[in-house]
Amino acid sequence: MRIIFHSDLNSFYASVEQMLDPSLRNRAIAVCGCTEERHGIVLAKSEQAKRAGVKTGQANWEARQCCPGLITVQPHYEQYLKYSKLVRDIYQRYTDQVEPFGMDECWVRP
Ligand SMILES: [Mg+2]
Repeated sequence: MRIIFHSDLNSFYASVEQMLDPSLRNRAIAVCGCTEERHGIVLAKSEQAKRAGVKTGQANWEARQCCPGLITVQPHYEQYLKYSKLVRDIYQRYTDQVEPFGMDECWVRP
């Protein structure tokens, strides 16, 4: 029998933002693209925002409508890449068979 784990980091972009800025922890936050550059959609949301009805892919204005206290932050891709690699490094302590799938998912064969 072959065992393969699938790892998917929850609300990855939002979790990294909350980790780096403690004032965002336990708050309804969404990582959003820039409205002025016509990329104004929710890329990721915290658990609190999710509970308020915010959805990934939603327009920023729609997200603010369903969650009036929503805190929006711009994405910091260099940080997401850094923490994505750190997580993969942890898996690689246990196996050399780690296959990344996007920034927040991996297939891991022990
Ligand atoms: Mg994920």
